[in-house]
Amino acid sequence: MYEPTIGLEIHIQLNTETKMFCSCPIVGYDVEPNTDVCPVCMGLPGALPFPNKKAVHYSLMLANVLGCEINRKSVFARKNYFYPDLPKGYQITQDEIPVAEKGQLKFKLPNGEYKTVRINRIHMEEDAGKSYHIGSGEISLIDFNRCGVPLIEIVSEPDMHSPAEAALYVRNIKQIVTYLGISSADMEKGNLRVDANVSVKRKDETELGTRTELKNLNSFKFMQKAIEYEINRHINCIESGGFIVTQTLLWDEKENKTFPMRTKEELSDYRYFPEPDILCIYVDEDEINHASESVGELPGQRILRFIRQYNISNEIAEKVCETKGFSDYADKVLKITSDKRITINWLLIEVLRVLNEEKISIEEFPIEPKNLAELLDMISSKKISNTIGKKVFREMIRTGEDSKSVLNRLDIKFISDENELEKIIETIIAENPVSVNKYKSGKTNVIGFFMGQVMKKTKGQADPRKAKDILIEKLN
Ligand code: ADP
Ligand code: MG
Ligand code: ZN
Repeated sequence: MYEPTIGLEIHIQLNTETKMFCSCPIVGYDVEPNTDVCPVCMGLPGALPFPNKKAVHYSLMLANVLGCEINRKSVFARKNYFYPDLPKGYQITQDEIPVAEKGQLKFKLPNGEYKTVRINRIHMEEDAGKSYHIGSGEISLIDFNRCGVPLIEIVSEPDMHSPAEAALYVRNIKQIVTYLGISSADMEKGNLRVDANVSVKRKDETELGTRTELKNLNSFKFMQKAIEYEINRHINCIESGGFIVTQTLLWDEKENKTFPMRTKEELSDYRYFPEPDILCIYVDEDEINHASESVGELPGQRILRFIRQYNISNEIAEKVCETKGFSDYADKVLKITSDKRITINWLLIEVLRVLNEEKISIEEFPIEPKNLAELLDMISSKKISNTIGKKVFREMIRTGEDSKSVLNRLDIKFISDENELEKIIETIIAENPVSVNKYKSGKTNVIGFFMGQVMKKTKGQADPRKAKDILIEKLN
C-alpha cells in the first residue's frame, strides 16, 4: 500500500505596471517582440536593478492572507541560469531569506472537510523571456518582453496526497490572488505556472520517497494527469524492484506520459549568491499594516456576505463567487434587482452560457450590470415574458443597447390588454374545432397546445397569465 505525496511550487505573474527591477512596462504577447526591454532587463553590463515597490507590497498582501511570517529584512540572490531567454546568465530571486515563510492555506474538500497545506515560503523573483522554436529546432527566436516581469513563487510543504487535492490547492491559490487583484493567474496565458514534486512511499514508512519534479504544468487537466501518471510510474518502478531517480520531467500531452527534461541540477549548480547590486529589502510596520489593509474582501468572506445579503444557499454562493470578476459583476446586478432568485438563475445560466460560447471573460461581457438588472426587473415584474426577455438579452449582447431601446427598436410590447387578447384567442378557438372538442371531452392538457398557438400568434408577446385565464374562460 502506497501513499503519494505532492508538494507544489506555484509561480504567479504579478500585474504591476512595470517590471521587477526596471521601469519597462509589462506587455502581453500581442505586442511586437523585444520592444519593451532596456539595459537592466537585457542584463547589459553596468545596468543596475532597482526593486519594484509594488511587487513587495503585493508579496506582503499575499503573506498576510497565507498567514506567513514576514521577514523584516529579505535578500535577493543570483541563481545561475544558463539558457538564452535570460541574457544575464542568472535569475534574480530570493534564496536564504525570502520575503515571507511558514504560512498555511486551509481549503474545503468536496466532502465538506477542510484541508490544511503548509506554506514553506513565498518569494519574489523575475521571469525569463520566451523562446520560440521554428521547424525541428534549427531556428530559435527569443522575445525578451517577458524578461524581468515580477513573479511570486509560493512553495508548499509536501502536504498533498492526490492529484485532486493538488488541483484544489492551486484553485484556491488562484482564487486568492485574483481576489487580491495582484495577478490574473490565468494558467492558459502562462501567468500561473505550476511545478509539481511527486513521491510515493509505503504507508508504514515514515520518510518520504525520492521525488521527481514535473515542470511547467500549464492546465489543471494536464497537471492532474501528469501527477497521476507519475504516481503510478513510481509505484510500478518500486514494485518491480527499481528505484526512483531524482529528475525533472515534462508532460507530453500527446503521448500522455512524462519524459525527462534534464537530470536535476545539484543544488550547488544553482550557485546561489547574494545579489550585490541590490541592498536588502527592509519592510517596516507601516508597510505591513498597509498591506493588510489592502487585502479587501476574500472569497470566504464574500460567500458569507452573499448568503446573508441575497438570501442564497452556500452552494450557489460558492459558484457565484468562484472568480472575483464574476462575483463583482453579480454583486452589482444583485444589489439592484428585486428578485434575487431570478437574478441568480440568469447569472449562472444565461450569462455564463454567453461567456462560454463567446469565450470571453466577464470583463468583456457587453451588458452593463445596471442594464441587466433593468431587464431582469422587467421579467420578474411580468412586464415582459421570459421568452421576450431572452430575445432582448441576445440583442443587448449583440448591440450593447439597454433593454428599453431594444424593446423600442424591435417594437416589442407586452400584450396584456384584455380586449386584444380576447380577439386573438377567439380566432384560435375558431380555427381549431378538433382541439376544442378534445378539451370538452375532458382532455384539459390541450391548454398547452392553445397557449402555444397564442404565443405563436403574438410572437411570444402575450402576457401568459392573462392569456391562460381568458383561454379557459372562453373554452368553458
Ligand atoms: P527546488 O528548488 O529544488 O525545486 P524547493 O525547496 O524550492 O526545491 O522545492 C521543493 C518542493 O518539493 C516543495 O514544494 C516541497 O514541498 C516538495 N517536496 C520536497 N520533498 C518532497 C517529496 N519527497 N515528495 C514530494 N514533494 C516533495
Ligand atoms: Mg523547484
Ligand atoms: Zn527593462
